[in-house]
Amino acid sequence: MSYQKTEVLIVGGGPAGAACAGALRQNGVDCLVLDKATFPRSKPCAGWITPEIFQALKVNPADYPHGLTTFRSFRIEFPRAKFKLPVRQYAIRRYEFDEWLLNRSGATVVNHEVKTIVTRSGGYEIDGKFFGKNLVGAGGTHCPVYRTFFQSTAPRDADALVIAREDEFPYRTTDPQCRLWFSENDLPGYAWFVPKTDGYVNFGIGGLAVSLKQKGETLKQHWDLLQQRLEEAGLLRDYTRRPVGHYYYRRGRPQRVRHENAFLAGDAASLATYDMGEGIRAAIMSGQRVAQAIVHDSAYDITAIPKYSLPSILKSGLKSLVSLS
Ligand SMILES: Cc1cc2nc3c(=O)[nH]c(=O)nc-3n(C[C@H](O)[C@H](O)[C@H](O)COP(=O)(O)OP(=O)(O)OC[C@H]3O[C@@H](n4cnc5c(N)ncnc54)[C@H](O)[C@@H]3O)c2cc1C
Repeated sequence: MSYQKTEVLIVGGGPAGAACAGALRQNGVDCLVLDKATFPRSKPCAGWITPEIFQALKVNPADYPHGLTTFRSFRIEFPRAKFKLPVRQYAIRRYEFDEWLLNRSGATVVNHEVKTIVTRSGGYEIDGKFFGKNLVGAGGTHCPVYRTFFQSTAPRDADALVIAREDEFPYRTTDPQCRLWFSENDLPGYAWFVPKTDGYVNFGIGGLAVSLKQKGETLKQHWDLLQQRLEEAGLLRDYTRRPVGHYYYRRGRPQRVRHENAFLAGDAASLATYDMGEGIRAAIMSGQRVAQAIVHDSAYDITAIPKYSLPSILKSGLKSLVSLS
């Protein structure tokens, strides 16, 4: 492979990298996306997306070319109360959504696992093969840009670590309702069951690592209880599959997200919401903001990226909340 030079090297082609690449290309800025995976690729995620994502992408949901599930309500359960909350929210499959977003960016994508990044000649060189004047770390939780330029001087907030388990698979369910369980069995987090239009189901569970450790509990124990609950409710039958584990950092204390011309976006910058771990919107918004900072040679400001999901979910539905208890 020959030495490739570009204005902006983007590490990671998930929502953060793809949104950044799309915004750069719209402004005529040359960029190159490096991803260790070949798209379409799997990504552990429930695939819940908000209307604000389509607004940020300037896309009409009706024009999304893959399966899009529209939820008019969420069934939300707390240990002592159950509600039906009117909403307008969506679900996609990340396998499809991420490839669509990356293709839509129009950027050149190279299948390459980034190992070593060095500063050289007023820019950044990756693995002796790629050079960019600017560098965008959009490689998720394990982003090598974070590791190289931020980890030692601006370590992530250990209290913000969320561990998660989930599975997505073809499954026929007769109940199209999206369900959320908060604090079930005293879990410091929540569990979900998300049926999708094209015959898939995603269910999973996530919790704060530090709180689980303090209580001497494991996520696996909560996963087993969730599986039992779903089977008792008739939502799951004969489940013998192995779930996927992953972890990420939700929004904690303010993180440093820029070091000279190296920027962090999405999970690399720990931007998933504090209350629901919603990270796709923050990934897209931060990717777009990095692009604006590069295009206009201006500050990279993430303060307007929402820290919480619940206010926008509740705003339309709170008045028509239905108690199911
Ligand atoms: C179980 C679970 C459920 C979730 N559910 C939701 C949900 O329903 N809704 C929501 O909004 N958020 C959800 N999230 C959070 C959401 O998945 C993330 O916030 C989002 O994917 C972040 O996007 P990103 O582009 O920053 O990173 P990613 O989507 O992780 O993309 C990073 C990319 O970087 C690439 N990469 C990594 N390292 C390298 C390397 N060394 N070299 C080259 N490429 C590399 C990877 O292959 C990957 O394609 C969930 C998270 C988990 C764990």
